Amino acid sequence: MSEISDVMGEAGRRGADALPLAGTHILLGEGDADTAARIARALRDRGAASVHPVASTEAFLLAGSAPPAPVRFWDAAVWHTGLGPDDAALGGLLERWRAQHPGIPVVVSDDAPSARLAVTALRGRAADLVERSDPDGLATAVARAVAERADPLGVEGSGQNSLRMLVVGAHPDDVEIGLGGTIHRRAHSGWDVTVLTMSRGGNGGDPARRRKEAHLAAEVLGARLLMEDLPDGSMADDRVTVEAVERAVAEAAPDVVVVHSESDTHQDHRAVHRATLVACRKVARLACYQSPSATVSYRPNRFIELSEVDVEAKLAAIAAHHSQAASRWYLDEDLLRSTARYWGRFSQTRYAEPLELVHERNPVLL
Ligand SMILES: [Zn+2]
Repeated sequence: MSEISDVMGEAGRRGADALPLAGTHILLGEGDADTAARIARALRDRGAASVHPVASTEAFLLAGSAPPAPVRFWDAAVWHTGLGPDDAALGGLLERWRAQHPGIPVVVSDDAPSARLAVTALRGRAADLVERSDPDGLATAVARAVAERADPLGVEGSGQNSLRMLVVGAHPDDVEIGLGGTIHRRAHSGWDVTVLTMSRGGNGGDPARRRKEAHLAAEVLGARLLMEDLPDGSMADDRVTVEAVERAVAEAAPDVVVVHSESDTHQDHRAVHRATLVACRKVARLACYQSPSATVSYRPNRFIELSEVDVEAKLAAIAAHHSQAASRWYLDEDLLRSTARYWGRFSQTRYAEPLELVHERNPVLL
């Protein structure tokens, strides 16, 4: 298994690890006994050591705090929205759970997940939102949540708990469009994600307003934002640009850097791509996301699986760029969603974001 498949996508992990839930203990909030039995079976098929079903929110929270012996702690929890009085109950439940059990992922099941519910799940940092009638899909989501919590690293023996990712874009909103779903996914599985935007986007509107929008978008995704002030429209791959990226590299100390591709019609995107290659020559992994201005020469070779919640987060982050939404064709929600859906075919998942891997090195094994 290649290093990058651990770091940049789950697809490579599947199959190599036949029992992804081996030895885990799962708390299952599910009111219907037959459904609970089906889900428990799917979880045990993936190696779960124990599945503890409870049929009410009160019992769920109680068992969360006091697991029944011999279980000492939960590896993950599943909560069915039907246990609450209404959809709004999900927000409160997730907030309480996170306060009491930070770090234990909750996968939410629903009879027919709506976009609105996905936003609530996203805000409450649910690990995933899945259809209740699909025990296999649910068990896969639990396995993914556990894997991302337990081993988000992929660099064996480095002793780190999480990876650090730096994502570089020429203008406000470039990074959200190219990699918003992945940023959300990684940030919420414990990665430290920094976004570097090289300009204030003066050609597309008032820089002060765009700056505020960029901060809000980063917050939605769970990332930290660094902003430079290079000239929008006339960036060069010169020393100034290289040094700007080097400053961010020094500050964020990234294991992974992702930037625009060389195959792009926008001169600023190409300049930032080249400057980043130079600035990140010592970074372990470098990859390129797809911008709306990418050409047909953009050839991705890695695909990051996204959940519905990740896609909703991406759309919410892009919507934070209010000043651009009306005037830019590529910000159309239908286009963004169908693009993620299209790339999903390469990772055999519903949604994905593509990456062109430029280089990877293993700093530990070298
Ligand atoms: Zn751009």
